[in-house]
Amino acid sequence: NIQLSKKAQQVSPSITLAIDSKAKQMKADGINVISFGVGEPDFATPENIKNAAIEAIKKGFTTYTPASGLPQLKQAICNKLKAENNLDYKPENIVVSNGGKHSLYNIFQAICNPGDEVIIPVPYWVSYPDMVAMADATPVFVHCTEENEFKLNKEDLLNAITSKTKAIILNSPSNPTGAVYTKSELEEIARIAVERNIFIISDEIYEKLVYEGEEHISIASLNDKIKDLTIVVNGMSKGYAMTGWRIGYTASHAILAKGMGNIQSHATSNPNTIAQHASIEGLTGDQSSIEQMRVAFDERRKFMVQRINEIDGLSCIAPKGAFYVMMNIQKLLGTTIQGVTIHNSMDLSELLLDKANVAVVPGIAFGTDEFIRLSYATSLENIQEALNRIDDLLNK
Ligand code: PLP
Repeated sequence: NIQLSKKAQQVSPSITLAIDSKAKQMKADGINVISFGVGEPDFATPENIKNAAIEAIKKGFTTYTPASGLPQLKQAICNKLKAENNLDYKPENIVVSNGGKHSLYNIFQAICNPGDEVIIPVPYWVSYPDMVAMADATPVFVHCTEENEFKLNKEDLLNAITSKTKAIILNSPSNPTGAVYTKSELEEIARIAVERNIFIISDEIYEKLVYEGEEHISIASLNDKIKDLTIVVNGMSKGYAMTGWRIGYTASHAILAKGMGNIQSHATSNPNTIAQHASIEGLTGDQSSIEQMRVAFDERRKFMVQRINEIDGLSCIAPKGAFYVMMNIQKLLGTTIQGVTIHNSMDLSELLLDKANVAVVPGIAFGTDEFIRLSYATSLENIQEALNRIDDLLNK
């Protein structure tokens, strides 16, 4: 009589798992599947960072560090936040964790009580709702429209706030929409948060990947009041092509940092020591490879947006950041393609995999059924070929 805890039972199984495992099986069977499902840069970690890790091993930096991270790395993070984000923090404000995902997990554990509500803009990054639920809090969804570039609208936000609202999640640049909030939009949200004493969880993990001259602004940099209420989340994964190294961090009020550090000290201890040393090099060393990656992503982004909008039945707006496009599939809903009626984003995603051998992520994974997410963290050739296949499937 094996029974999971209530908490474990309420964690949703990954919606994308079925498609993902099918795509893998097809590849193993020798089928040329092109994947738009990828959530990580397709670039190698820069050489200087790899070498710093090798050096760290050789120097014997292979033991525990303080649970919330190496003091030198915390200082490097503070210097980065000052130089790039105009944020003044001290090492006592920083907690280094096993990826931004772990940082987010720590935050909810540190601030939420049972019954607290956390506002999540839709489309959202898949893990937010489950992380909130794992902290015994309740996700409150606020739908954002394509017309508003998938950004929070002030009235909708105000309507969602109750006396139980503990925090608002902001993810700019956004996965899955690529939305980047402007300074005035952030000021509006900050004003509301300060007025109501609500935390802002600002997930800035895609900050390095912005296009069209857009500027990444951290909401915490607007003024001291909002800074006190904001937990900035960032990490090495996306900007430095270091997904497997598992280093993320938070910057927050020292009381929150202490709480998160305590939680982490019992859950995982310090994140990998070698990866921490490599991250110091990442943050302080030559930054030119970061810009090379951004330029490559931008070229693919432009191509993908233009090509999607040429395909009958599909459309998209140009995302301003990250490496994803939300493709609008509304026109195809209710139609029949090759004998298959498309009721929702999952139906179309399965059809694209089966008949065009293109793997995508259905919008329902992000809380919306009228879109499909395409990642352009794959070569331009792959993007060209896969979109040709989709065009052929839908229109020939
Ligand atoms: N936040 C967002 C919006 C993400 O897309 C991801 C990764 O997909 C993360 C956080 C966590 O990344 P990591 O745990 O690799 O730092």
